[in-house]
Amino acid sequence: MKKSVVSKEYQKLQKEIIELQEQWRTSLDPDCVRPNLDKAAMEAGVPVTALAAIDFDISLFLQWIEDIGGLLSKYQPEIETSMQSVKNLLDEETAKRWIDEAFAFNYIYFKSFAEENDLDGWIPQFVAETVLRPYLQLTAAKVQDEIHQGVHGAGCPVCGEPVRLAQLEGEGKKVLHCPRCSAHWNDRRVACSHCGNNDHETVKILTIEGESAAQIQICEECKGYTKVIDTRQYIVKPTPAMLDLNTIHLDFVAQEHGYKSAGETKQTN
Ligand SMILES: [Zn+2]
Ligand SMILES: [Zn+2]
Repeated sequence: MKKSVVSKEYQKLQKEIIELQEQWRTSLDPDCVRPNLDKAAMEAGVPVTALAAIDFDISLFLQWIEDIGGLLSKYQPEIETSMQSVKNLLDEETAKRWIDEAFAFNYIYFKSFAEENDLDGWIPQFVAETVLRPYLQLTAAKVQDEIHQGVHGAGCPVCGEPVRLAQLEGEGKKVLHCPRCSAHWNDRRVACSHCGNNDHETVKILTIEGESAAQIQICEECKGYTKVIDTRQYIVKPTPAMLDLNTIHLDFVAQEHGYKSAGETKQTN
């Protein structure tokens, strides 16, 4: 399950997870998410999902865990026992806590939950994140018409995920897309999408041999990178999650060159 290994098997599993999440999302009652759009909070970079009310259905949660367990077990049969323990451990209170902690990217909580319950370290957070996404995607779909701009450095305006993917539209406009919640918003083509730097000396393009429709925008100020994919020629546009998965090799190229999907604030002095 380590992301450093991009095997065909890994990509196939990820693709099946994305498809499963799409099914889950369509099964949600659209009224179970009630976003509260606060302009001042959005301008300060607070993600919309942080202020959304979500009615959370424990039976659905447990059903999804069963679905994801079934899928993972096809690839790693030994996982079945762990997924059964996860199901047994999740009462309503714990399930709610998982959602809250997954929202907050609280790796420490999930790591200690795994340790305390003798589970593989990656399982609790992976499961929580997987079942959270349909709610994030539903939130994004509901507020998309109100999302035009992001705040540099704050990640996705809907879910807070660090920026890493953009698509070109129209005359070459750069539109950022979030692979986690599917929200999209505009950014200046020449600017670094992490720190907003638009100095052409320090915002550069890494071109990839043999890939005319894909490039990596890099920034020497914050060391952030953004994959910029020209999907204008595509007949069928992939979802941001699929496009992100299909271009995962670009993340490796960027990371090998020392760039990150979350830029750094430059230390002065
Ligand atoms: Zn997002
Ligand atoms: Zn930057």
